[in-house]
Amino acid sequence: MSDLIRLESVSHHYGGQRTLQDIDFSVADGEFVCILGPSGCGKSTLLNILAGFLSPTSGQVLLWARDDVVGHDIKVVMQNAHLFPWLTVQRNVEFGLRMRGDAKETRDARVRELLSLVGLSGVERKFPVQLSGGMQQRVAIARALAPDPSILLMDEPFGALDAQLRRRMQAELVQIRAVTGKTIIFVTHDIVESVLLADRIVVLTSAPGRIKKIVSVDLEHPRERNRAVYDWVFELEQLL
Ligand code: ADP
Ligand code: MG
Repeated sequence: MSDLIRLESVSHHYGGQRTLQDIDFSVADGEFVCILGPSGCGKSTLLNILAGFLSPTSGQVLLWARDDVVGHDIKVVMQNAHLFPWLTVQRNVEFGLRMRGDAKETRDARVRELLSLVGLSGVERKFPVQLSGGMQQRVAIARALAPDPSILLMDEPFGALDAQLRRRMQAELVQIRAVTGKTIIFVTHDIVESVLLADRIVVLTSAPGRIKKIVSVDLEHPRERNRAVYDWVFELEQLL
């Protein structure tokens, strides 16, 4: 597998406050990597650096184009869906496609395909306010996937959902990943979540965030909350 993104000695300060220190890791095409660490350890800062929203104080982020695309494109899903409230679901999902000038038939087909993928067929004409939090987050995922980005970044995307819904969304994300083969970097402070989702987990220490350990979770999908998963959870708890 070829690398799509690599961080080399990335450090970040906000003013005098050191937030991230010497972060080094790479993510390969098609990989699902979780960034796990306690609240305030710099996970969102790291995600913003990966997204290119923030420049690291030192170090660098290297990007490679996926074989089948020119350049790259990274899409982000945050804890809150941040949909455009004045646009329908259809318009929200096709937003990036309109921006690049895709024809109506192409957009319609893609929106149908994506809403089906996230389990939301038939809500094209609804507005975000008419949807539950979980549905809004599904729309946000569909919108992010629409232009077929090289990398999908997710910052605690299920953190605002109740426990039962969170479990369902986790299972659905595993399914979406299996269907799309998307490269996903997923930030969480939830150890169980990271074990259920990730191929590899980058464990950060509390502030300033440094890499404590990177572990490969070699469990088959779908993963259940069973003994094998909790063995991993226990091991990670020792690290955090
Ligand atoms: P996490 O996502 O792991 O909870 P963050 O990356 O949001 O951590 O924040 C890491 C640290 O940096 C925290 O102490 C936070 O208060 C601080 N911080 C985050 N954003 C800013 C900012 N824009 N300006 C100053 N300090 C910030
Ligand atoms: Mg955060």
